[in-house]
Amino acid sequence: MNQLLETKIPSRIYQDFVFLKTKIVVNTLANESRCYVCSKGLEDGFSVTAKNTIFGTLLFCDKHYSTN
Ligand SMILES: [Zn+2]
Repeated sequence: MNQLLETKIPSRIYQDFVFLKTKIVVNTLANESRCYVCSKGLEDGFSVTAKNTIFGTLLFCDKHYSTN
């Protein structure tokens, strides 16, 4: 009985967290491709690269891609 309760609670938290994360990723991808840190984009002469982070898939310019 104790084991069942212990495995149920973390999985419920995990599900809520994944749902929230997915929403943020969709909003980010709908915007123009700009660096997540300094908001520089292709128009400013920066190349932008997508990177998987704990916050989801984010875009970084050349400067910030290596530091994050
Ligand atoms: Zn940047």
